[in-house]
Amino acid sequence: MPVMDGYEFLEKASKVEGCENTPILVATADESSEVENRCLKLGAWDFVRKPYNPNTVRLRLQNIISRSQIYLMEQLRYTAEHDKLTGLFNREKFFESARQLLARCPEERFAMIRLDIDRFRLVNSFFGEEEGNRLLRYVAECIAEMAPDFPHLTYGRMEADVFCLCLPFEREKVLHMMEICREKLRQFIKNYYVELSFGVCVMDGSTADVNTLYARAAMAAETCKNHYGSFYAYYDNSLSEAAFKTQWVLNEMESALQLRQFVVYLQPKYDLENNLPCGAEALVRWNHPQRGMVFPGEFIPVFEHNGFIARLDYYVWEETCRLLRKWLDQGLQPKPLSVNVSRVNMYNPNLVDILQDLVEKYRVPASLLNLELTESAYMDNPTLMKQTLERLHRCGFVVMMDDFGSGYSSLNTLRDISVDILKIDMKFLPTDGADSRSERILVSVIRMAGWLGIPVIMEGVETCRQRDFLKSVGCGYVQGYYYAKPMPVAEYETLVAAGESQRLPQRVTEEKAQHLGEVWGSGFQADLLYRYVRQPIAICEVVGEEIAVVRVNRAFLTRFGHGKSDGGIQSLCGVCGQAEAGSLLKKAIHRTVRDGGETECRYLYRGADGKPVPVRLYLQYVEEVANSHLLIATLADESGRSRMEPADE
Ligand code: C2E
Ligand code: MG
Ligand code: MG
Repeated sequence: MPVMDGYEFLEKASKVEGCENTPILVATADESSEVENRCLKLGAWDFVRKPYNPNTVRLRLQNIISRSQIYLMEQLRYTAEHDKLTGLFNREKFFESARQLLARCPEERFAMIRLDIDRFRLVNSFFGEEEGNRLLRYVAECIAEMAPDFPHLTYGRMEADVFCLCLPFEREKVLHMMEICREKLRQFIKNYYVELSFGVCVMDGSTADVNTLYARAAMAAETCKNHYGSFYAYYDNSLSEAAFKTQWVLNEMESALQLRQFVVYLQPKYDLENNLPCGAEALVRWNHPQRGMVFPGEFIPVFEHNGFIARLDYYVWEETCRLLRKWLDQGLQPKPLSVNVSRVNMYNPNLVDILQDLVEKYRVPASLLNLELTESAYMDNPTLMKQTLERLHRCGFVVMMDDFGSGYSSLNTLRDISVDILKIDMKFLPTDGADSRSERILVSVIRMAGWLGIPVIMEGVETCRQRDFLKSVGCGYVQGYYYAKPMPVAEYETLVAAGESQRLPQRVTEEKAQHLGEVWGSGFQADLLYRYVRQPIAICEVVGEEIAVVRVNRAFLTRFGHGKSDGGIQSLCGVCGQAEAGSLLKKAIHRTVRDGGETECRYLYRGADGKPVPVRLYLQYVEEVANSHLLIATLADESGRSRMEPADE
């Protein structure tokens, strides 16, 4: 050959990309078998010698060309059936292979196991895509390594970080397999736990369609994503039913909105002081011609997921404004109605404008359309919520924090944003199986809100006992079945028309809040009182029958201590002194609250050591904020006096 010899050509040709599959026939005059061997080793497909017989050459060429085509077809098929990154079956091939497997072993009960890596995207963004790919290949290897343990098994990579196995079901063996997989994966990246979620669907005779089995395994996997601590879940029929219901909601929602199948019900809120309604909450119902009344629990979560809630919310707000307009036109003085604002809406940059346009359109004072924002929206994005709240306030809207306490960060919520009213989640209400812990939390929340000057509405009050309890701890307002269930508008109109009702309270004025701030704060004046006044001082709070010592100064701490007891009256009369001095003290305190004046009394204080110390207590009423009364107690240790004088009363 002119530029290179035949050997050199063979060597280079085999390395040119795309030429691996090009058949090469070597033609030569050389007769030694050594040359032939060398050519074949270097990649020649076949070999002909001079003198050429045209027929032989043609036949040999035909042979190598068809061999090349077969090889090419195989390669194409491999590429079409396998995932490039991991070499496992791809989705289509996996389904086909599972189908064949099921057909081949009709007596076996198979399971479809879908697995994926939790938060795989994070792996990609923390460690880079290359590391992500390495992880995927590692998962594939783990699965492939286990394959020999299962005689009838097929598996593949479905997409991104999702893999699937189909194998005869044996509970123990499957569990063991999942655990091993999980263990191996956890060690993959140092200092970062890679977690897997498995969804298992076991064939139950209802279907042998592999796509359906896979979809069910996926539903199961979805459920364990929401439960910390479980990494696998089995499919059961309720999951399918749930999916079916969701689909129904999705199919029907558009027409339902157009046909005005959504109706607004009103649930009154009551003032505990006088048991009168003081407004209501608008709650949506879906009145479906075939299914009847459908409750929000069935459709709101679906709408929150797909964003449709924004339109439904608007519909409810508009219906509510229309109602208020109607009442105003009738010359009534309607109480405010509150509407729910879903968290999706909090991300709508036009939210405030939309609401403002709406109240303008219906010429309704903004103060009549109260807004219930759920606490979880705050946790999603505190800054946004804070800004939105400020703008809503500027427009005159009253904002309630709905489901307070249901979030994980309720204290932050209270600290950071200034809502007008707190609606406490019903889960804190003591039920008959009395949970004293949530009861105590509830009391503290009500008190805390009181100190901040925020009125409280308790949701879900169902019994007379709960009502009495709430009243005794200073809760101002309630909403619940005990008073009234959500009702059609006409029924509410009758209810309100029947009796006088009153407005929901506004937040305590700034001035009063500032005053309170001084009592609780660490400003200069408070500091003087707490640190430098040498007489023991305690600030007490009285809510209903409950008395609590909420703050004491340093002199009090030094002399009497605080914190060992429950923060209640024991702090004032000693751990061992309650029986003797307790009732005397209680009376004095309640008298001070009743008269709003001053009282003095003497009694024996008994601390942990039980030794009696004569004390003189001076009580001074300060003020009332949101049903809680503040008193200042000043104590004097009289043991220095010559003789113990008899206690008052
Ligand atoms: P929510 O805003 O916290 O409403 C209070 C829910 O508690 C209502 O359920 C009400 O019927 C129920 N409830 C009231 N008193 C009692 C009681 O004494 N015992 C018990 N067990 N439940 C009581 P509902 O109407 O089923 O609404 C559930 C949730 O759906 C609402 O919780 C709210 O988050 C949402 N929702 C309802 N209507 C709308 C709406 O128009 N828009 C938006 N975004 N969400 C809505
Ligand atoms: Mg609500
Ligand atoms: Mg609520």
